[in-house]
Amino acid sequence: MFMPSLLTAILSLASPSPQVAGSSEAPDPPALVLAGRRILHVGAHPDDESTFAPMLAEACRFNGARCHLVVAQDADSWGCLMGLGLEDRDKCSEMRRMEVSASAANLNATHEFFGWREGRYNWNDAGVESNLAGLAREQGGRSRLVDRFMQTLESFRPEVVLAFDPRHGTTCHPNHRAVVRLLLEAVDRLEPRQRPEVWFGSDFAVPGAPEEIARITDGFGIVRWPGDRAPVVWYDMTAPLPDGRTAYDYLVDALRLNATQFGEVATGRLTPSPDPSHRRLPLVRRADIDPAQAGLCEERAPGFLRNVESMPDDVFVKAVIGR
Ligand SMILES: [Zn+2]
Repeated sequence: MFMPSLLTAILSLASPSPQVAGSSEAPDPPALVLAGRRILHVGAHPDDESTFAPMLAEACRFNGARCHLVVAQDADSWGCLMGLGLEDRDKCSEMRRMEVSASAANLNATHEFFGWREGRYNWNDAGVESNLAGLAREQGGRSRLVDRFMQTLESFRPEVVLAFDPRHGTTCHPNHRAVVRLLLEAVDRLEPRQRPEVWFGSDFAVPGAPEEIARITDGFGIVRWPGDRAPVVWYDMTAPLPDGRTAYDYLVDALRLNATQFGEVATGRLTPSPDPSHRRLPLVRRADIDPAQAGLCEERAPGFLRNVESMPDDVFVKAVIGR
C-alpha cells in the first residue's frame, strides 16, 4: 500500500485562528473562514461531531458563528453493543441522543435529529447503496430523504457545511457516506448563489488500520487518508482559545460526553494526549474531490464488517460482543 509522507502533510503552518491555513501540499484551496458564519455539521450518528468539535467550539463559543448539528440516523442504534454489550437498540438511541444534546450544548450549537434508522449495512460501496435504498424504502422514497435535508438548509441557511468525506466516511461506515450523498443532492437543488461552501473532514479512522496508523488513531490522534492527493487545509487544534483551553480539549469533551461510545475516556481512565502533530484535521473541499468516487473502502474495514448485511441479528450480536 502506498503511504504518503505523513510528515509532509502534517507540517503546515500554525493558522491565525479561526481562519484555517493551507497545508504544505500544493495547490492549496482557499482558506476556510469560520468566524461569524452560519455553520452546519451533518453527521449520521450522535458522536460524529467529535472530530469537528474543536472547529465548532472555536467558531461558535468564541468567534460569533452560529452552529447547528444534524444527526440523521439516530434511530434503532446498534452502537451500544460494542462498548456496553447493550442489545436494546431503542434504549441505545435514547442514550445517544442525550449524549449528543450535551455535546451540542458544549459547543454552543443547536441540533436536530432526523430519526432515520441506523440499519446494518456492509462497510463498502455496495453497503452505501443498500443504505440509501433502505432509507428510501423506510421514508417514502429518495426524494423525501433529500427533502428532509432541504428543510434544514432552507431553515438554517448555512454558509459553511462540514461533514465526513463521502469517499470513505473516515471509518468506511456506510451511514457516514450515505447521509453526505443525500446532503449533496439537497445542496445541488439550491440556486448556485445560495449554496454553502462544503468542506469534508478527510482523516483515516478505519477499524483494523495498519499498525503505523493505528498506534496514532488509537490514542485519538488524527492522520490524513493515506495516498489522497486532493488539496487539503489543516485545522490546527493546538491553538489556545480565550478560555485558556485548546481547541483539542473540546474534542476530548465530545468523547467524554458521548460516554456510550468512549467509555475509557468518559470514565477518566484515559485522557487522550496525542502528539501535537496529530491534533490537526485535514479538510478537503467538495469542489476538489469526486464525492461519488468508489473503491476506497472495498478492502479496508475488517472482513466481518464488509459482510454484516446478510447476518441474522443474533449472529451479528455474537460477533460483536462474543456471546
Ligand atoms: Zn458515526
